[in-house]
Amino acid sequence: MIEIDGSMGEGGGQILRSCLSLSMATQQPFRIHRIRGGRRRPGLLRQHLTGVLAAAEICGADLKGAELGSVELSFHPGRVRGGEFRFAVGTAGSAHLVLQAILPALLHANVAAQLRLEGGTHNPSAPPYPFVERTFLPRLRQLGYDLGVELERHGFYPAGGGGVVAEVRPAPRLQESSWMERGALSPLRAEIVYAKMPREIPERQAQILSKKLDVPSDEIRIAEVESHGPGNAVTIDVASESGVEVVTAFGESGVSSEKILRRAANQVRRLQKSSAPIGEHLADQLLLPLALGPGGVFRTSNVSRHTQTNAHVIKQFLDVSIGIEAEDRNVHRIEVHPGSKEAPGIAEESLQGGEA
Ligand code: AMP
Repeated sequence: MIEIDGSMGEGGGQILRSCLSLSMATQQPFRIHRIRGGRRRPGLLRQHLTGVLAAAEICGADLKGAELGSVELSFHPGRVRGGEFRFAVGTAGSAHLVLQAILPALLHANVAAQLRLEGGTHNPSAPPYPFVERTFLPRLRQLGYDLGVELERHGFYPAGGGGVVAEVRPAPRLQESSWMERGALSPLRAEIVYAKMPREIPERQAQILSKKLDVPSDEIRIAEVESHGPGNAVTIDVASESGVEVVTAFGESGVSSEKILRRAANQVRRLQKSSAPIGEHLADQLLLPLALGPGGVFRTSNVSRHTQTNAHVIKQFLDVSIGIEAEDRNVHRIEVHPGSKEAPGIAEESLQGGEA
């Protein structure tokens, strides 16, 4: 039984989701305590519980502690199966994070899986749909994943009510990856979606994008969308010869558009300044698919605590080395190799304790 401290390092939900993915894919049971111990409200929230129940349903797992608020869980996986599934978070919790937890195991299912996931599709602190569509999935396909995801309805925080459908076909053999050079950048493009709010808000955001980031005005699309509740998300595509990095800003009541777009503009500039093809969020999300496949190497613009913590969790389940090395201020090289060859990187002391 693998024992995991859910408060280590970054101390959030990713530790749990990675454990679920790894447990299903490797058929090893695990027990996790102090779940989300680094967060202000520790324990299982709806999104995490839905991920646990989804994983358990897909592989017929035996579970203990799968309740809202629980800070301890044990999970004994069974055989992964495909078929039709529907998982509803029931709040605005991210549907994509539930999907991410079960994706890797479904590659090894007996038949394809058709999934319907309901919840948030455009959430702060989670990958929004445009990121999943244009940043994450293309990389998975390069690894050999055979899958499609479609947005059916937008779900914003706090009302939720969004939906995506996904089809994941078995693909037991994956490719090794090498994503080292970003190549030339294309002009920035942006998409602003909004629901149940005046059109002046996205129009002003478009002006700010043109002024602050030189996004050409004919490359900014504004779309009013159907949703249970109000919402507003601005996505900026930083496209290069290597792929697309989607940077997102979310409208927040009481926070000016200038302020939310300033944060996004800083992220865009950071990507533009780096010659690395992989951004901060994609880096932490790619580690697990690489470690479960034949491995690979990539450069990223920065290494987050999510990335460091995820590397540590992966190593509890797999005989894998994950090396993280700074090449310069904006370029870090990450190497994932199956087998126990030790690589430089990951300071264990950076994984002690968690932060709110
Ligand atoms: P956790 O905070 O542990 O629940 O993990 C959140 C996950 O969402 C991590 O994999 C983050 O990289 C990812 N994430 C957070 N914000 C974004 C964003 N704006 N775009 C893409 N992924 C994100």
